[in-house]
Amino acid sequence: MAPDAVDLRSDTVTKPTAAMYARMATAPLGDDGLDGDPTVVELEAFAAEVLGKEAGLFVASCTMANLLATLTQAARGEQILLEAESHMYMAERGAATFTGVFHAPVQGTLGAMDLDLLRSALPGGSSKLRTAMIALETSHNNASGAVLPLEHMAAVRQLADEWGVTIHLDGARLFNAAEHLHVAPGAIAAYADTVSLCLSKGLSAPVGAILAGGRPIIDEARRFRRMIGGQQRQAGIVAAAGIEAISVMGHRLGEDHARAQKLSFLLNTLSPHLSATIPQTNIVQVDVSTTGHEPKVWAAELAKEGVYVRPWAKERLRCVTHRHISDDDIQHTYDAFRLVAMRLPPRAMAKL
Ligand SMILES: *Cc1c(COP(=O)(O)O)cnc(C)c1O
Repeated sequence: MAPDAVDLRSDTVTKPTAAMYARMATAPLGDDGLDGDPTVVELEAFAAEVLGKEAGLFVASCTMANLLATLTQAARGEQILLEAESHMYMAERGAATFTGVFHAPVQGTLGAMDLDLLRSALPGGSSKLRTAMIALETSHNNASGAVLPLEHMAAVRQLADEWGVTIHLDGARLFNAAEHLHVAPGAIAAYADTVSLCLSKGLSAPVGAILAGGRPIIDEARRFRRMIGGQQRQAGIVAAAGIEAISVMGHRLGEDHARAQKLSFLLNTLSPHLSATIPQTNIVQVDVSTTGHEPKVWAAELAKEGVYVRPWAKERLRCVTHRHISDDDIQHTYDAFRLVAMRLPPRAMAKL
């Protein structure tokens, strides 16, 4: 990929900022598995405070944070309920092969589970699986970065309380949701017992994620983290970047959202051949099915113009804005789409 390529594949491609490198170079370090790494300890306390929880745990990835949330809140032979297109269902349900916890999908709209379907799934039905936890996701990756309305989260909280089950919030992009709703991240996490946060997406840290929740759950998660090989040593070197990510990087996400909106607007002027979702946050999905060319063909042609996107399902491309995407890059992306649209003559769509 050329250095001036426009990389819209994901916000995970973001590199650390200069301020992160500076913090990393001077962070006090220790053995986090022995008597604690002071920088990790600081990050965990700071993240917990920002997320409005008692305690935090620094982990290698958001996938690991979600796995620990499941291990601490559901037992073998129980089920967790989650939206059918959620990341925890689509991309992480292989965890069941270790946890023995069944992932039961509930259909939803724009990432929000249908509340009637959720209510009827809670008792476990003829499966006789006891429901231990409900998992929510905001912003919702597959729903093109849609943000759960707080009213929806409150309604799910009420159902969870009625049934005595916990709620885990997959908040990989929680700061994007907070930016969209103009509330603090903690105001969203307040509806959940545990919350995960990815530090290495739009927040630009090189690696890492946080799981936050009540102290007993986080103590237990720390125990499980050790069992799955997630305990690290001088992890402060990366936790230092995480502190920078949480303290300053959330403030600029509005720029990414504005550029995603601009991109969506421009691409929709190319219709009827393309149809872009209107984003609430930083993810735009572009339906190319009416062009009669597959997403992977579009992605390959766009790459020739220096624009990298990801084929998403059978009909879509996914474009994610982030810190390395400028206004000029949005214009360049639009130009590339226009060129490729001219190069790929419209075809009748093959029946899928
Ligand atoms: C990216 C993502 C994850 C996984 O994060 P990793 O840090 O890559 O493991 C989990 N949930 C959602 C919603 C995500 O977008």
